[in-house]
Amino acid sequence: MYKRKSRKLDEPREMEAKVGIIKRADGSAMFKIGNTIAMAAVYGPRNLYPKFMQNPEKGILRVNYNMFSFSVSERIRPGPSRRSKEISLVSENALLSCLNLEEFPNSVIDVYIEILQADAGTRCAGICAASMALADAGIPMRDLVSAISVGKVGDAIVVDLDKEEEDYEGGSTDMPIAMMPRNGKISLLQMDGNMSKEDIKKALELGRNTCNKIYELQKRTLKEKYMVEVENE
Ligand code: ADP
Repeated sequence: MYKRKSRKLDEPREMEAKVGIIKRADGSAMFKIGNTIAMAAVYGPRNLYPKFMQNPEKGILRVNYNMFSFSVSERIRPGPSRRSKEISLVSENALLSCLNLEEFPNSVIDVYIEILQADAGTRCAGICAASMALADAGIPMRDLVSAISVGKVGDAIVVDLDKEEEDYEGGSTDMPIAMMPRNGKISLLQMDGNMSKEDIKKALELGRNTCNKIYELQKRTLKEKYMVEVENE
């Protein structure tokens, strides 16, 4: 059976979260899980230009995911790639579920996700940071979005694979998921590899439990910021 050196199979890496880290942005957040660090900044809702793109019935959400060139040991070429475009799109869809864009006609909400340091699970860390940044921007939301990668390493179902596990020689499957913990609705589900139906069920269960833990951290972090601000008034 595959074993981990420093944590249990159902245990995510150590997590840390912060909000309000970028003063110029309307909302911002940092989410760290193990050696993966994501930052997100939100601008808006603000008028959408060029004007012909405006929709008087609803606003739009624009998500841009990017990895810093120094986020992995080999330098990443700056600028959009096929991978970053795909991750921007799936992150946008994952976050759309928690917003009601009809409240913001003719507007855009811009979300920028930057990966400072990557050790797998970056799309999930980015979504966790982005949903906190949306809340920090004061945008009305149905719920936060929590995300984690689950999967299979060798013969074991695991949560929160790191890069070494993603590259495990005995075979590895990575299944990132995002959900709104309050109603349990899943807004991102991808899979890189192979798993049986039974394994997928087990992995999903593990993902749900971990999303609930992440959710508690996200809520606590947001509450801490706003409680301090009220006390200072
Ligand atoms: P995710 O980061 O959401 O798991 P991927 O499965 O595409 O997305 O990537 C897995 C990991 O591979 C990343 O987190 C990162 O650590 C590493 N990685 C991605 N792109 C590159 C790259 N261009 N060079 C080196 N490592 C990379």
